[in-house]
Amino acid sequence: MTESAPLGDGTRAVRAGLPEPVKHEPTLPGPVFAAHFHLPGDPTGGYAYARDENPTWTHLERAIGELEAPGADDAETLTFASGMAAISAVLFSQLRAGDVVVLPDDGYQVLPLVKEQLIAYGIEVRTAPTGGDAQLDVLDGAKLLWIETPSNPGLDVCDVRGLADAAHARGALVAVDNTLATPLGQRPLELGADFSVASGTKMLTGHGDLLLGYVTCKDAELTAAVRRWRKIVGAIPGPMEAWLAHRSLATLQLRADRQNANALAVAEALRARADVADLRYPGLPDDPSHKIASQQMRRFGCVVSFTLPTRARGERFLDALRLVDDATSFGGVRSTAERRRRWGGDAVPEGFIRFSAGAEDPDDLVADVLRALDESAVAVD
Ligand SMILES: *Cc1c(COP(=O)(O)O)cnc(C)c1O
Repeated sequence: MTESAPLGDGTRAVRAGLPEPVKHEPTLPGPVFAAHFHLPGDPTGGYAYARDENPTWTHLERAIGELEAPGADDAETLTFASGMAAISAVLFSQLRAGDVVVLPDDGYQVLPLVKEQLIAYGIEVRTAPTGGDAQLDVLDGAKLLWIETPSNPGLDVCDVRGLADAAHARGALVAVDNTLATPLGQRPLELGADFSVASGTKMLTGHGDLLLGYVTCKDAELTAAVRRWRKIVGAIPGPMEAWLAHRSLATLQLRADRQNANALAVAEALRARADVADLRYPGLPDDPSHKIASQQMRRFGCVVSFTLPTRARGERFLDALRLVDDATSFGGVRSTAERRRRWGGDAVPEGFIRFSAGAEDPDDLVADVLRALDESAVAVD
């Protein structure tokens, strides 16, 4: 027997999670709308009540698992109503009063709220920046290390393997927020993490039309605790969202490749501008994140960040864009950008822009960005 070559990302994405072919059945079975399933006699496993399990999730969970941990039969994926539901499920199923958790201090903007809640439950929270692997310095005695790389919105990258080894040596578990990278950009479990956790709302599904989250884990006991938390809290995805997500996964490689190439093209165009400061994109060879990103990532994501001189300039730039929506979130097929400071949370300057490259033609997108920069340079009263 000859070993067949491993399948490429595009092939894996289009086939991910599909059930065995059944004559006269669709390739991807439609959403199963059910609260309960026929269940005569003793419950002996299988679908019973739809807060616990739903066949539409099963297909999606297999699909995400095949992308996050290809070939790992021991990996299990659980889907959630949102990325925050997935994040909370890991944190709150693992941590107890008296435990120590290490979070990034430059991560997703809801993490400070999570931190408050953890503290209210008697958990000690330490924070450190993503860049420079600074979380290493506060690991002693920790039960769980939470990594977000690349970080949102600053786009710093840390060494997942190095941090995971250091955490494991101290008996701590490691979770990586894989939202920005997607499983086609980086595979945290292969880099040593215990949990890969993400929002599927962003590039994973890519159309800006649903919220979703997931956790992938190879340890049966840890997975059981997360599953139990999902049952208790009930933060489950609807079957329609799960099905739409699965349908969208088929184009993940196409979207990611186009969007990442567009992000690089935008970053390269911005680099030549004197009015753009602190440009960050891990795919730029001279970016501070590039070296470690190229060691652990296979794609660098669709988000570019940069700073314009003032708040007013940032607002005029966003107004002047025609092909880019002023909207929060990222990862969708339509480019979006926002002045991140408007939320008040992230520690970024007033003119800081988070730009998410969509799947437009690169020339159109770059031209729109450069035109909006020129037009916004001149204040019109
Ligand atoms: C959006 C986001 C989340 C939260 O996901 P939701 O689906 O909005 O709940 C978590 N982490 C990162 C890095 C994100 O960008």
